[in-house]
Amino acid sequence: MNRQEELDPNHQPSETVFEQSLRPKRLAEFIGQDSLKGNLHVFLQATLERKEPLDHLLLYGPPGLGKTTLAHIIANELDVAIHVTSGPAIERPGDLVGILTNLEPGAVLFIDEIHRLGRLVEEILYPAMEDWKVDVLIGKGPAARSIRLDLQRFTVIGATTRQGLLTGPLRDRFGIISHFDYYDKEALAQIICRSASILGYAISEDGANVLSSRSRGTPRIANRLLKRVRDFAQYDGKSTIDEVAVERACSQLGVDGNGLDRLDHSVLRALIEKYNGGPVGLETIAATIGEDAGTIEDVVEPFLMQLGCLIRTNRGRMASAAAYLALGKTPPAKVLASDENDLFSKG
Ligand code: ADP
Repeated sequence: MNRQEELDPNHQPSETVFEQSLRPKRLAEFIGQDSLKGNLHVFLQATLERKEPLDHLLLYGPPGLGKTTLAHIIANELDVAIHVTSGPAIERPGDLVGILTNLEPGAVLFIDEIHRLGRLVEEILYPAMEDWKVDVLIGKGPAARSIRLDLQRFTVIGATTRQGLLTGPLRDRFGIISHFDYYDKEALAQIICRSASILGYAISEDGANVLSSRSRGTPRIANRLLKRVRDFAQYDGKSTIDEVAVERACSQLGVDGNGLDRLDHSVLRALIEKYNGGPVGLETIAATIGEDAGTIEDVVEPFLMQLGCLIRTNRGRMASAAAYLALGKTPPAKVLASDENDLFSKG
């Protein structure tokens, strides 16, 4: 769940409680992302031995992969306080000064969507991250003067879906930069089994495997689908979620065998049916289907590229043969010929 959802007063409170209960609390409970986890274990141990705050850490990768969860785990492992905010929530430099001057020693400041921090706010953050100091302007006009305040030493954990949008100076202030990958099917199936047991609903091994393959390598989607599958299973009087229950629920929800949903399908359909497979610009696709370009870029495209359905070129987006197959269409000969990444034609 992102920050806005958590702060949205219309958001179902049970959703928040459910999400929170599913969040692993310790590093050992965090499934998958093995290389990131292994490195982090070393950094945390070394930091604890030195009794110093952890170096600033930037987590990047598509939404729903566990960046927020990991930030909470780090604070738990270090036994320090965590303060949660986000780039768009810190509107004025004064807001950030207020947050920084109230941090406890060694605290974690988690800034979600850190690429959306304003320039003036970012400038406050530089000396704070580097020297534990903050410059505050007192008074107005010619009488205004700047004073430097000392801060407690703390750790910034920044999360972003787009590392490329971070300014150079901000990126340079992170000592550790870690990338989140989509989860493999086995790790996701383990997460699903864990979530099902927290929910108190039995799931068969086949059920967990099928659900895993339809969850786009993303724990948030897996947990959300699991809840809906449970509803269908319960409605059908089943005490265990099996393969059949997962398939029935997914087909009702419009999630296909690759985990592609209606939004993915509409992007692919626009690309293929309206623009003859591309190349076509992102903004044009967004306008065609009436969806926000940022959502398509952050949420839809990374997974379509991972599946080999979409190719990004400097002339625009193009559909591969896999995209035609994902929509149950026959790829045209010219696409098959030019598509070196076509997974299906290789077999
Ligand atoms: P992000 O901050 O990257 O958008 P979150 O940390 O909010 O993602 O994770 C989304 C949901 O997925 C959380 O409710 C959490 O329970 C679950 N989740 C994420 N990563 C894992 C993991 N490695 N093991 C178990 N559950 C996870």
